[in-house]
Formats: sequence, structure tokens, C-alpha cells
Amino acid sequence: MNIQTITKTLIDAGIEENEAKKEIKMLLEHFCSYTEMDKIRGTALDEVQLSTLKEKVLERVKTRKPVQYIIGEAYFMGEFFKVTPGVLIPRDETEILVTKAIELIKKHNLKDVLDIGTGSGCIACTIAKQTPATVLGVDISSDALRVALDNVTKLGINNRAVFRKSDLFSKVREEEKFDLIISNPPYIPTGTELSAEVQHEPKEALFAEENGLKLYREIVEQAPGFLKPGGWLMFELGIGEAVQVKRFMEVFFKDIVIEKDLAGIERVIFAQLG
Ligand code: GLN
Repeated sequence: MNIQTITKTLIDAGIEENEAKKEIKMLLEHFCSYTEMDKIRGTALDEVQLSTLKEKVLERVKTRKPVQYIIGEAYFMGEFFKVTPGVLIPRDETEILVTKAIELIKKHNLKDVLDIGTGSGCIACTIAKQTPATVLGVDISSDALRVALDNVTKLGINNRAVFRKSDLFSKVREEEKFDLIISNPPYIPTGTELSAEVQHEPKEALFAEENGLKLYREIVEQAPGFLKPGGWLMFELGIGEAVQVKRFMEVFFKDIVIEKDLAGIERVIFAQLG
């Protein structure tokens, strides 16, 4: 038994080769304290490390649980965030959203940010860590808020990111005005078939009615009441949703910008209150 044969177990179970290698690397680092440097040096794994790796790989294959839930952490924007099955696992695409937000915050010296549907808090915490802005993260799920709070501690950002239980804007007061409202809302059309892995993630973080557009519509309609004059609204987009979300935003917002991801999919939309 060696790393190669264990990796093959993942590949034989239908996990794509590059993904399998990435997952093995994550499991090795987390459970076996075996780093890329050890690998480069050609350091061998001992029996205990190998059997631990095998055990975790078998759990992965048997349950189809995403590797991040097995580890309890996900890598996002240079940090490790705590994740549990109560929160969505941060995605690579969301790094595009957050990178754009950080750019905008720095360029326009934005101070107060609201993150709607904060989940693990990955967006809120990264913005608080990498800019001078303070962030309020809201979520309908108490489980998610507990994870987000743990991530504040993990990243050492203290009161620069705070969290509140709120169904969209329901517990945000009209006098709390923001420079930027950001959201990666649930956007998968209800009823869409999910992979075995994604089925482990919370349904309320994934699905939205109205063909996936309900939360965009509700946030766009209410956002102007919670923005300072000239404030910004920014979303991550699901595949094929840009046109419709743009239509919602055009009513209240100007200079709409849409950014594509590496696969050429329209992934981020933002605009300024007009
Ligand atoms: N804001 C979190 C993220 O982007 C959660 C998003 C969600 O649950 N839809 O990962």
C-alpha cells in the first residue's frame, strides 16, 4: 500500500484524477502532517500515516462526503476556513467575487459592508481581513452563524466582522446604511439534480425558487433601502443567470458590470445605486 494505490481507490470510485490528487494532498496534510515539502523530499509515509490515509479515503468513497467536510476545513483566498455540513463549502468561483469586492472597496474607500447569506463567513471574513472595511454577515441559519463566528476567531479579525441571524434584511435596520451589499445567494433552480457530493451540502444554501432567481430579485428590491447614496450591490451568478439579474438591477442601479470566470461563464455582477 502506498500513496499511488490509495489515490487509485479514489479514481476507481469515479473521482476525476486531478481532483483525486488534490484530495489526497489535503488529507495527507490534515491527518498525517505530510506536506508538499515532504513529498518533494521523497519522505516515506509510515504505516500509521498510510492506514490513516486509507481509512479517510474509504470514508470519502463510501459516503461521497466532500473531502472538506471530512477534514472540517476548506481553503479559500489563502486561508483555511472551518466548514461543517451546515454551511456551503467555499468555491473557487467565489474567489472572483471576493477579489472584485476587495478591488472595489480599496478603490472607493468603502467602509461598511453587508454580506447576505454569509454561510461559513468566508466572504465576510476575507473582506475584513484584507481591507479596512467592517462587515456585517447575516444568515437565516443558526448553524451557519456558529461556523462564521469560529472563522472570525480562526482568522483573528475580532470585531471587524460581526454576524446576525436574519432572513435577508429582516433584522437589518433601515438606519444601518452600507457602502456595499454583497451576496453569493442560493441560485440553483429548485429540483435540479445534484451530484452525490453536493447532496451533502445544505439545501437552503443551494436552491432557490423562480428558476434560481428568487433571492436575487428579493435582494435587489430591498437593497436600495439599506445602501448609502452611491452604494454598490454585488452578486455571484449561477450559470445563465446574468441577463435576468441585470434586468432586476437596471431598475435601481447604473453602470452594471459583469465579470466572467476562467471558464468564460458570467460569474459576477455589480453596479452602483443610480
Ligand atoms: N457566503 C457563503 C459562500 O459564498 C455561503 C453562500 C451560500 O450558502 N449560498 O460560500
